[in-house]
Amino acid sequence: MSGINFLRIGWTELHNSAMIFGAEVDYWPPDYPELVNRIYLDTRLYSNLLPRIVKDSHVDLEAYGCRSDLIFNMIFKRIRKNAKNHDNLRWWQYLTSEKSVNTLLNDFQKSSFNFHNTQAPVFSRIQIHTIAKYGMWLINHETEDPKQDSLAMLWGMALIGVTKYLWDKQGICEFCYRRTWPGRRFCEGHSQSQSDTKNRSKNYMNYRTGKKAHELIKKHELTERVQGATMLKQAISATAMCDLLYPEFLDKEVKTDEKDMIFQALSQCPYVLARLKMQIGCSYDEFINLEYDHLINHLRQTLDPYELSCRGWQLKIFSAEIWFAAERKVSPGVRKNGKKATARIAATKKLAALGLTKSEIARKLKISPSTISKWIVRKPEISWI
Ligand SMILES: [Zn+2]
Repeated sequence: MSGINFLRIGWTELHNSAMIFGAEVDYWPPDYPELVNRIYLDTRLYSNLLPRIVKDSHVDLEAYGCRSDLIFNMIFKRIRKNAKNHDNLRWWQYLTSEKSVNTLLNDFQKSSFNFHNTQAPVFSRIQIHTIAKYGMWLINHETEDPKQDSLAMLWGMALIGVTKYLWDKQGICEFCYRRTWPGRRFCEGHSQSQSDTKNRSKNYMNYRTGKKAHELIKKHELTERVQGATMLKQAISATAMCDLLYPEFLDKEVKTDEKDMIFQALSQCPYVLARLKMQIGCSYDEFINLEYDHLINHLRQTLDPYELSCRGWQLKIFSAEIWFAAERKVSPGVRKNGKKATARIAATKKLAALGLTKSEIARKLKISPSTISKWIVRKPEISWI
């Protein structure tokens, strides 16, 4: 893998997400011809979204005419200067020089910023979204030590860069609706890459079921509904980083609306609902009163750990429902008897109830006694024959 400048990517994401969030000033081009092709920002909202960065970089946003591109570059330069002033230039150079994801994350986990205390958010290399969330927390985490704070900010930006980089490389599983680990063909459920012997046969079963379920959805022309809607997925992706970095700014009304839509989708999707309830393990009252953020976390754990976005879950719920239904249909355990067999089993039960023996029933129904023996094994209700 060629090297990446994660700090630069991270800063770009922070800035752009703030603009997507609403810091970009709306204007009507015909009224302001001089503003065409230039992007301006709302300094107050921008400072609210990035308080530490604006404060520590000492950039007077107004002085740059509120121009987004100028402010973006100026803050980046000032962060470097700030690092230099606090004797962190070596780290700046380290974090802006090109390297692989693994090198960066290994070094981060060895650093003093990999806190395991209760205030620190969850950090998991496998859950891509937690890397950026941890980064954002580091950026806003103020201590008494300015040298440490300046370094925390550098690490924070680099971590956000890692999430962005990995996320861009994610795909959709070749079988189902889930996202994949960057560069992989299959989701965790359908990947056979884990090689420990204990899980190997289970993985193989999952793979087989996945393959069959995929063939079934293809046959019924449901592929687009399960894996597709590419345009929509891209549209959701555009706001996903923004929702991830600035979740507390999602206003209450938006959260309530999203939650309503999720519950509405769930009410139509019994398979998904059953899995979700099993994962949460709470009463119905607790379930409907779940906070929006908790609900999203549970959905992520139940349906797709690699989904970063907070929005678009109702679509994902519908995709998952079709998938679970297909999986169920092709699972060996739930194969149904044909109509003919069902009728014969019912007749067997009746005749057995009248006291006929196995061979008498077989003769009457023109089937072999061994077939009845098979039914006895599989159907406990006729086992007393
Ligand atoms: Zn899959």
